[in-house]
Amino acid sequence: MRSGRGRLYLTAPVLKANRMPSPGDWDLFRRQHETLAADGVTVAEHEPLASHTTLRIGGPARVLLGCGRREGVVAALRAVREAGIPWLVLGLGANVLVPDEGLDAAVLTLVGELASISREGARIRAGGGAQLARVVRESVSAGLAGVECLGGIPSTLGGALAMNAGAYGQEILDVLGWAEVVEEDGTVRRLERWEVEGGYRWSVLSKGRIVTLAELALRAEDPEVLRAHVQQAREHRQRAIPKEPSAGSVFRNPAGDYAGRLLELAGCKGLRRGRAEVSQLHANVIVNTGGARAADVRALVAEMAARVHERFGIRLELELKILDGTGGVLADPQAPLA
Ligand SMILES: Cc1cc2nc3c(=O)[nH]c(=O)nc-3n(C[C@H](O)[C@H](O)[C@H](O)COP(=O)(O)OP(=O)(O)OC[C@H]3O[C@@H](n4cnc5c(N)ncnc54)[C@H](O)[C@@H]3O)c2cc1C
Repeated sequence: MRSGRGRLYLTAPVLKANRMPSPGDWDLFRRQHETLAADGVTVAEHEPLASHTTLRIGGPARVLLGCGRREGVVAALRAVREAGIPWLVLGLGANVLVPDEGLDAAVLTLVGELASISREGARIRAGGGAQLARVVRESVSAGLAGVECLGGIPSTLGGALAMNAGAYGQEILDVLGWAEVVEEDGTVRRLERWEVEGGYRWSVLSKGRIVTLAELALRAEDPEVLRAHVQQAREHRQRAIPKEPSAGSVFRNPAGDYAGRLLELAGCKGLRRGRAEVSQLHANVIVNTGGARAADVRALVAEMAARVHERFGIRLELELKILDGTGGVLADPQAPLA
């Protein structure tokens, strides 16, 4: 059932739905802990996820798996597959909303070797868990152009490639050379740039696979020009992006327009649910003013989408990944009031 602003929605379509694991599935998974440890995977049970997201919201993950090398990712995916456990990979958690109840799923993070960075000439090679800001620092200090405007985006390299993160005319896929991925069935593949489909804030790399390593092909540039670009992007970001904890843009820009403009005209700035608030600085950003709950954010998202639909007849699409209890991604911004 669908209805207007402020009412309950009984349907909650998901883009990627998962089966709820049973206690038996988790028992089966627990038996694999030792094998996982042998592949360098750390296992933390009931790990609170609020500290793993930039919104600082979210209940615990049933298990958090820290994978320090590719073999660990392969082993972790094999273990979850055999036990029938839903899984997802998390970077800096800068584009996700984790439910207050947490995730009955295995959450993989990439650390150690999978967060390292190296450079050879104009090519930078980095693990999927490497912080984008570090990748950008490395490229700028080596006089290389192509990612200098992306340094302020909170992201891992894997998360940036999955989302095709971009800012100020640059997008990460523009400079991708190749990406090494582990497929859901544990197969390791190297995808060349032409094999990686993607566009505005999406790429095939987010679909059921994990980016473990990638190479960026950059170009030499005058260090003065580079520094000027970095400075411009930094100043623009300081003016435009709220300082409070957030997950960046909630909605994708519709063709030919800006979600922030439509949301502002629809009177969304300053709307509040509990401790979650639509930023006064940017109408497409929800901030956590301290102790906000995922349910508050979801209610605000529904309200914002409904206001824009009522005023302009436009159905905004989510950029924020709103997760359900097993890590599935909700598709409909107006279906979150479960
Ligand atoms: C203050 C702020 C400003 C922002 N500004 C921008 C901006 O200017 N431009 C922009 O594009 N975005 C922006 N964002 C959004 C966010 O930073 C990006 O979407 C970022 O790329 C998410 O990266 P992450 O590592 O945090 O991924 P997460 O949020 O952890 O995950 C996002 C998606 O990527 C997948 N993923 C993560 N790691 C991997 C991997 N190794 N392999 C495969 N899939 C993976 C996850 O499963 C999930 O589906 C902003 C966010 C904030 C909080």
